[in-house]
Amino acid sequence: MAFWGMILCMSDYPRTLLEFQKLFPDEAACAIHLERIRWPEGFKCPYCGQVGDPYRIQARPRVLECRQCLRQISLTAGTVMHQTRQPLPIWFWAAYLVTTQTPGMSALQFQRQLGIRRYETAFQMIHKLRTAMVRPERDRIGAKWPVEVDETYVGGATQGEGRGRHHKTLVIGIVEVLPRKKALGPDPNLPSGQRPQHRGGHSSGFIAGRLRLQIIPNRKQETLESVVLADVQMGAEVRTDGWTGYDNLNKLGYRHTAVPVRGDQAKTDQHLPMIHIVFGNLDAWLLGTHHGVSPKHLQGYLNEFVFRFNRRFWPMVAFDSVLKIATRVESLTK
Ligand SMILES: [Zn+2]
Repeated sequence: MAFWGMILCMSDYPRTLLEFQKLFPDEAACAIHLERIRWPEGFKCPYCGQVGDPYRIQARPRVLECRQCLRQISLTAGTVMHQTRQPLPIWFWAAYLVTTQTPGMSALQFQRQLGIRRYETAFQMIHKLRTAMVRPERDRIGAKWPVEVDETYVGGATQGEGRGRHHKTLVIGIVEVLPRKKALGPDPNLPSGQRPQHRGGHSSGFIAGRLRLQIIPNRKQETLESVVLADVQMGAEVRTDGWTGYDNLNKLGYRHTAVPVRGDQAKTDQHLPMIHIVFGNLDAWLLGTHHGVSPKHLQGYLNEFVFRFNRRFWPMVAFDSVLKIATRVESLTK
């Protein structure tokens, strides 16, 4: 059947705009994807349990009708697309643009690129997709791999006031470090999906795993410890610089390795390479795409950044989950 030929595996995520356009050209193609995600084994009526192909109404691809009880089932119920007048392909495009590595988009760019008539509509769409990017999970990372922990000052380039630290916000970052041969999937930045020889200027055979980013009020020991305790699995290897705020991690039950780097770039690259690549990318994204972000909204942007980062090996999962149509596969990335 042609229908099953359309099934998207996670590894079949379209890598170019043209591929995407071919996959989801119209309402019907998008509806098929929704149906496939909801019933991977084939349609089953939620009312009467009838199994087997439902009636499809050509003029209304968003609705299926059960052959047995004749009730109608909405494919968009429970998703961000429900009861909106925007065509499904516009929503699919929006989700694609938000989840691809091309870092985020402003509402204005969105409106122009997708030919949406009103700015408010574009803004609402982005807003809905962002609400699906809030961090739902508070589980701990570092169970299998060491983590790097460090803090950085983010944002705060207030116009006309120079670049003093007084407007910057303190953020703590924690990232897993995996041996490259254990990489979680093909590199999404490479067209054919092959694994890279080098990544982020760091060639010693490691790759970043999952990430956590959080605003913190200060660098006090109690502050840093509470974040590590909430985010990192007990017993994990935790790598930090020589800051005294981390002195107690061994006593708390972690395997703590601290190296005093004191701003020495070579030492930093050696001991905490991954988290500094992450901080660099985060900075570029906040300043380049969003032209700086106010402290009030920063955590939301951090969540968006982490969402994309943690799903970069599974872009199809990210795509489905911002549309809120993801089901079982979502747990892969937690
Ligand atoms: Zn039925």
